[in-house]
Amino acid sequence: MSTLYVVATPIGNLEDITVRAVRILKEVDLILCEDTRHTKQLLTRYEIKTPTQSYHQHSSGGKVKTIVEMLESGKNLAMVSDAGTPGINDPGVLLVKELVTQMDGNINIVPIPGASAVITALCVSGFPSHEFSYLGFVPHKKGRQTIFQTIAQSETTTVFYESSHRIMKTLDALGSVLEPTRQLIVCRELTKLHETMYRGTCATVIESLKKTSTKGEFVIIIAPRSWG
Ligand code: SAM
Repeated sequence: MSTLYVVATPIGNLEDITVRAVRILKEVDLILCEDTRHTKQLLTRYEIKTPTQSYHQHSSGGKVKTIVEMLESGKNLAMVSDAGTPGINDPGVLLVKELVTQMDGNINIVPIPGASAVITALCVSGFPSHEFSYLGFVPHKKGRQTIFQTIAQSETTTVFYESSHRIMKTLDALGSVLEPTRQLIVCRELTKLHETMYRGTCATVIESLKKTSTKGEFVIIIAPRSWG
């Protein structure tokens, strides 16, 4: 039976890949990439010469059919996203769903665990992690205010992703609904050269970001309402 390996790759620092992931990427017949040019850097670093093909959220049904045919012919494939764990706010969920339905159990779908920005940030937050809400990216328009109100009332830790061009807007919006003493952490550029953690209240985090930089990738984690 053929196998699709869902392989986690680094979220910045190229050393953050497992020995097993490197072996699997070398052994499979083909690597499905969110962006083949992006993944090339990682493959070059580890001297992985396996052929690549693109598979992303806009890939057609025809592409899925080709993937099913490859698996049916006995080929083993790996799927990677640009960074972190495929399927976690990245392409992959739909492909796994299609393969489960179309191949009727005649395929192994194997996770190769590794980095994910949500868990990387959570483990240094110091906030409760036995239970947490992961929101992916918060909506830009519809439902945005309701989500912020829910976070303000939440008794569990809340984690979400934010981009560099929206980080200040989002923190300003959060600041207008959170109690002034509510604690949060903003993790910027995790595992990369400019990795920075900003801890404090919304107001102090905003001040610190203004003094440093709002460039890069962000994870925001808000402590439960009655924490601390
Ligand atoms: N699948 C990925 C994972 O497992 O973490 C997440 C992909 S999502 C499209 C990309 C978002 O994750 C970025 O916009 C950012 O909010 C967050 N992210 C990814 N890498 C990061 C890093 N090194 N530092 C901080 N946030 C990061």
